[in-house]
Amino acid sequence: FKARPWQLKEVDTVCGYCGNGCTVTLGVLNNKVETIRFNDKNGVNDGNLCVRGRFGYSFINSEDRITRPMIRRNGRLEPATWSEAIDAVVSGFKKAGSEKGVGILSGGRLTNEEFFLLKKLAANSIKTPHLDHSGGECYKGVTVGMRQTLGIAASTGTYPQVEECDAILSIRSDFYETHPVFGMVVNQAVKRHDAQLILVSDKKGKFTKLPHAQTLLSKPGTELSVINAMCQYLLAEGLAATEGVEGVDELKKALSDQTPAKVAKLTGVDAEAIKSAAKKLAESKNVAILLAYGLPYSAQSAELGTAAANLSILTGAVDSEKGGLYLCGEKANSQGALDLNILPGDKGFGAQKMLEAASDGKLSALYLIGEDPVVSYPDRAKVIKALEKVPFLVVQDIFMTASCEEADVILPATSFAEKDGTFTNAERRIQRVRPGVPSPGEAKTDLAIFSLIAGRFGDQLSYTGPAAIFAELKQEAPGYQAIEFDKIGPQGVVWGGENLKPAFKKLVAVEGSKPVEARFQMVTGSALYHSGTLSTHAKGPLAAMPEPYVEFGAEDAAELALKEGETVAVKGNGAELRLKVKLGKRLPKGLVFVPYHFGDAGVNQIYRGESSVPVEISK
Ligand code: SF4
Repeated sequence: FKARPWQLKEVDTVCGYCGNGCTVTLGVLNNKVETIRFNDKNGVNDGNLCVRGRFGYSFINSEDRITRPMIRRNGRLEPATWSEAIDAVVSGFKKAGSEKGVGILSGGRLTNEEFFLLKKLAANSIKTPHLDHSGGECYKGVTVGMRQTLGIAASTGTYPQVEECDAILSIRSDFYETHPVFGMVVNQAVKRHDAQLILVSDKKGKFTKLPHAQTLLSKPGTELSVINAMCQYLLAEGLAATEGVEGVDELKKALSDQTPAKVAKLTGVDAEAIKSAAKKLAESKNVAILLAYGLPYSAQSAELGTAAANLSILTGAVDSEKGGLYLCGEKANSQGALDLNILPGDKGFGAQKMLEAASDGKLSALYLIGEDPVVSYPDRAKVIKALEKVPFLVVQDIFMTASCEEADVILPATSFAEKDGTFTNAERRIQRVRPGVPSPGEAKTDLAIFSLIAGRFGDQLSYTGPAAIFAELKQEAPGYQAIEFDKIGPQGVVWGGENLKPAFKKLVAVEGSKPVEARFQMVTGSALYHSGTLSTHAKGPLAAMPEPYVEFGAEDAAELALKEGETVAVKGNGAELRLKVKLGKRLPKGLVFVPYHFGDAGVNQIYRGESSVPVEISK
């Protein structure tokens, strides 16, 4: 770092990584982001940043950024002008539209204004119902679950409220990995306010070590049954909050064979522990129920979303003054994508279906925007087949991702540090994103690219700027109605207010988990890197975790006489990965963990969207 602090131009914006939405201040010199620091006067992160937000910004200045459009000619990607690239995109989409149609798959890091224009582009110009954002079925699943029980698809409370809760339940979520600064909020609630923390998960984590945390360690993929059993117990014992709630008798009947005693065998969680945890939640005044969602949680996501929402009703969490149900999206603007309904409608394919359709020859074009499904979606072989098979592939991104290998046109886009607009974080806080640096080379913002494509279709998508788009996008997001773009201050604005009341409270029964038995099961998830699309191009996270690994718990390590750093083979679903061993203490016997970020190692060669995958381990 060569710049002196007084030489830097400071720009307040929002971290581009996860749905926590921490505010950051960029230090800019000569059009380059030299520093990122916290600003404790802004936002809700109280001056806290995690390692990704604090040290993971060098990807912005990376030499690997795409700086020119490219078109495939005679089998090779060659530099092109914007005019040539947009012509190629529009004629490709028009041709595809007259054949089997276009699928559009976006990442979760577009601004709200960009999502809104994308929606218009899809509906009015490209004319396709096949639009989805990262996470596909998983996001749709969780939100379907919440919408049918509560009539909303968003967290009902805010982060500062969590600190004041008496009891917190975290379901299948390791916030220290996925949303580290939110992890600190939970830490504060436990340490400062003596909140009772209850964890339902297949592995231990940093939360487990907090004072009087109660961990219900469940067999892989069985958290759903534990939550169902809690609901069953509260209903059977008359401990449930049922005033104004629909479907009480139906749920009672449907869960009659999911008692804590019956579920204990399936999940490995002691029946008395399930009962005492449920009782604690029902008896506490302010309860927060936390659910992180993202790609590794796609199996039974709708059921888990529904069960969590049922429990949030029965424990009174959604009605409590300080608590609520928290739905923490994986990417910086996952919540904005939900608010603006960047999800397939009834007639559209979701992300996974889109890829299946492409590989079955049922789609004529795919448009990937800030999304690299080859690395970050389940079942790599299926994704590659889809990208190879689809006749026309457009990739709009900031790096040459693995998905670019099959692209017909590549459009260079911009990072969060070059964007102007708003993101909405996991607590519904709409915050201003401001550009600190210009786009590198000829790269353009997603906003500008959507306008260019629409213009070439003969449609107008020209606005004076994000404020004008924000004024119009309110028609898609009713919660945003009362918010003025120019009045979004340093703390942002929480749409729907601090306590978002459910539209209704309707209990919906869901079947329990369907666990598989195997000597070893593999789970995947986030470990420092998040999805890796940005952070594996950043020096900070790369220095801390340079290569992929397979993690074992102490019992398995002793039984297999494993040494840290040696290489083992992990085989499952007909694929094999050779990975370095990492020894830890958080995994129970029989469970191994492989992070899902590293493109080359490709855990998604094995992982196909299951909660856990039976695997064989050999030296
Ligand atoms: Fe960025 Fe999320 Fe870390 Fe906050 S918790 S600094 S938003 S990655």
